[in-house]
Amino acid sequence: MDYDVAIIGGGVIGCAVLNKLTRHGVKAILIEKANDVGMGSSKANSGIVHAGFDCKPHTLKAKFNVRGNQLFHTLCPQLSVPLIKCGAIVVGNDKEAVKELYERGIANGVDGLSVLDRAGLLQLVPDLKEEVTCGLYANTSCVVSPYMFTIALAEEAVINGAKVVFNTEINSCEHTSNGYRLKANNLDIEVKYIVNASAMGYNDVAKILNTETYPLEFRRGEYYLLDNTVNITDLTIFPLPSKTSKGVLITPTADGNTLVGPTSYPCEFSTMTTTEGLNDVKQKSTAILDVPFNKNIRNFSGVRVISGNDFIVEKSSMQDGIINIAGICSPGLSSAPAIAEYVVEDLLGYNQEEIKMIPRKPYTDINKLDSVQRNQLIKDNPDYGRIVCKCECVSLGEIKEALNSPLKPNSVDAIKRRVRAGMGRCQGGFCLTKVIQTISETLNIPSEEVVKENMGSNFYISSINPETKE
Ligand SMILES: Cc1cc2nc3c(=O)[nH]c(=O)nc-3n(C[C@H](O)[C@H](O)[C@H](O)COP(=O)(O)OP(=O)(O)OC[C@H]3O[C@@H](n4cnc5c(N)ncnc54)[C@H](O)[C@@H]3O)c2cc1C
Repeated sequence: MDYDVAIIGGGVIGCAVLNKLTRHGVKAILIEKANDVGMGSSKANSGIVHAGFDCKPHTLKAKFNVRGNQLFHTLCPQLSVPLIKCGAIVVGNDKEAVKELYERGIANGVDGLSVLDRAGLLQLVPDLKEEVTCGLYANTSCVVSPYMFTIALAEEAVINGAKVVFNTEINSCEHTSNGYRLKANNLDIEVKYIVNASAMGYNDVAKILNTETYPLEFRRGEYYLLDNTVNITDLTIFPLPSKTSKGVLITPTADGNTLVGPTSYPCEFSTMTTTEGLNDVKQKSTAILDVPFNKNIRNFSGVRVISGNDFIVEKSSMQDGIINIAGICSPGLSSAPAIAEYVVEDLLGYNQEEIKMIPRKPYTDINKLDSVQRNQLIKDNPDYGRIVCKCECVSLGEIKEALNSPLKPNSVDAIKRRVRAGMGRCQGGFCLTKVIQTISETLNIPSEEVVKENMGSNFYISSINPETKE
């Protein structure tokens, strides 16, 4: 047996399961088809660790969201990932709807909820539009960087013995005397249990595993990301939710920007943005607060994978030892630690005490050092004094550090997600070529082979001078 458990799909759910298994001393492998973790909805969402007040009571969503929110408070410090405990308000002018939401939250076991009138809301956000007359305050709602959280879960697991393989898609699964033999383009392993956490790829993987498939639908959410000089709210502001979505929110991000969105439109699986969607975000958000959209630095979208009204997290009834995880739309990020706990302890039965984990080292952030620490660092390694990304003040040393980090990232966007080079107002206009050059030199690959994101997204077609590689 090569591994006890194979997890297919390295989004926040797969990485949370991998991390939890590793904490119980279980030998696990994560198989991801892209070249980094968190490449599906886990990298393009609102980053809210929801309190759990708007999930329908007695659903898996309600159970995992409320428990997940609690677990974030212990997990984030262990992973050295900042959790911004900013709280949230839901605002509108329908007192009955606010009361219903409050009661739903109480039924779900959410602490720290209070109903506010306009005066109470204005104390939290002074510039709310006149139409806003009532709301709900939730003090357990938090904000996290969704991709950094996902990366940290996987990094800590790898440091403690787990295996992560990228650019790998299984193409066959056979029964063995003890479990399953999984084969892929570059892999041939025997495992006892399999967890299918491949989200948008769930049904394709299920067909190979010969397990249940489910009807899946996709809904795209489009966003504006505003410059870090914008400061219109310190907490997350939601409108009253609709049947299909939590609505267009305005929130600070964990990295100090302001995020406005998302929409919720049925779509094919595509992360494009549209004029219609972005206008919708503008119109809905400005009904709550004036938003300086002239400070927009980027538009992006993420796609929710939905199956019916609830999450699917269950043992396959067609194959022993296979766990189906499907339809993890919102609040999937908030629920991830609780889903992992349920899968590992209840469904797979790994109840042994957690081992003492070797902690992951957070990436150096020269902006967070005082001048004495920074000077010492630069003295020890001058690369930390060579600024590559001027918008976010990211040094060459930090980029090299990310390239040597546990998951060995190798794309420009993987570096961006780890140390924020290219995340600022010029969106890489200034630093892109230097980042490509650093990846090329550090990994000793030609710059034509450096990709933006996945395989095939190369920046350069060929060198002008193949000998000098220029
Ligand atoms: C617009 C939007 C806003 C949201 N906001 C929030 C929020 O604020 N708070 C919250 O709690 N939740 C939010 N969510 C929900 C949250 O983002 C998701 O629930 C969560 O990211 C799902 O994680 P996942 O691991 O299931 O899927 P994904 O992150 O999509 O990961 C699936 C992974 O599987 C891989 N994969 C696919 N096929 C294969 C294959 N054949 N082999 C190997 N790997 C494969 C993919 O490459 C991908 O990396 C939001 C979602 C969206 C889209």
